[in-house]
Amino acid sequence: MKCPKCGRELIQSEKNPEYWLCFTCKQKYKKKRQTYSNIPEKEVRAAGEAKVKRRYSQMLEAEEQSKKKKRSKKSSKNDIDNYDDGGSIVPLVVLGVLIIIVAALIAYMYFK
Ligand SMILES: [Zn+2]
Repeated sequence: MKCPKCGRELIQSEKNPEYWLCFTCKQKYKKKRQTYSNIPEKEVRAAGEAKVKRRYSQMLEAEEQSKKKKRSKKSSKNDIDNYDDGGSIVPLVVLGVLIIIVAALIAYMYFK
């Protein structure tokens, strides 16, 4: 059984099993359909379903985007042209090596 307002699955009340609860709308419904027949059920349900579907598709989109981000981050590590994130460590390593070479040269010249 689904909530006629938001289209989410209703949860049966533990205190009173003939009532079904929607925690989103803070509503309770009797199991018999007649209790909410005064509501324009079909339209409201369609609107609710559309809302849920839109939210769901947004969720999927966000997930897809985060996947794409992860994928592009991964591929950028192999990309030589990209110094934005993964590549930023390379100049530091080069600098370190240069310092060692210079230090070695100075030591070599000093002890010569
Ligand atoms: Zn609801």
